[in-house]
Amino acid sequence: MTRPADHWYPAYVGLGSNLQGPARQLEGAFELLGGIPETRLISQSSLYRSAPFGGVEQPDFVNAAAALLTKLPAEGLLRELQRIEILRGRERGNLRWGPRVLDLDLLVYSNHRIETADLTIPHPGIGERNFVLLPLAELAPGLDIPGLGRLANIVVSETEPAISRIA
Ligand code: ADP
Ligand code: MG
Repeated sequence: MTRPADHWYPAYVGLGSNLQGPARQLEGAFELLGGIPETRLISQSSLYRSAPFGGVEQPDFVNAAAALLTKLPAEGLLRELQRIEILRGRERGNLRWGPRVLDLDLLVYSNHRIETADLTIPHPGIGERNFVLLPLAELAPGLDIPGLGRLANIVVSETEPAISRIA
């Protein structure tokens, strides 16, 4: 796919934390997202509390989503997200679905579909996890997600742990 170098692309990021003051971690992360080069923070969702996913005993998570406009390609934006995770003390290589100071997932990048070793876009969790779906739906209910359809039409799972809005 050709990609005009100087266009602004809409991108959505999912944020999560369950260590070291999760709500404060997310507030700090929004600021850092706004500082990514060639990128603007357009809007941020409410914060949601959710029970942990994946069967690991650990504190509740706080989750949120952010809408960005960026001139970076998806791979470059992912690298910036990983840089922020590490800056905030995230240790890589720890348990999948285990506790973390900050998790930043690139959920959607324009209307692109990407499937490489390092990057899957749209993020596979969108249709499966309420803690991804609900904050994103707050920002962009009309968003058309490649392969999934309009966000507002994606059914929220009732079998998952409860999620509640906290701020
Ligand atoms: P998870 O978010 O699933 O708990 P990690 O945050 O530890 O797991 O990420 C594991 C790997 O997922 C990263 O090394 C990254 O390369 C890969 N990955 C693939 N697609 C994405 C995406 N859309 N957003 C963020 N990471 C992704
Ligand atoms: Mg992640």
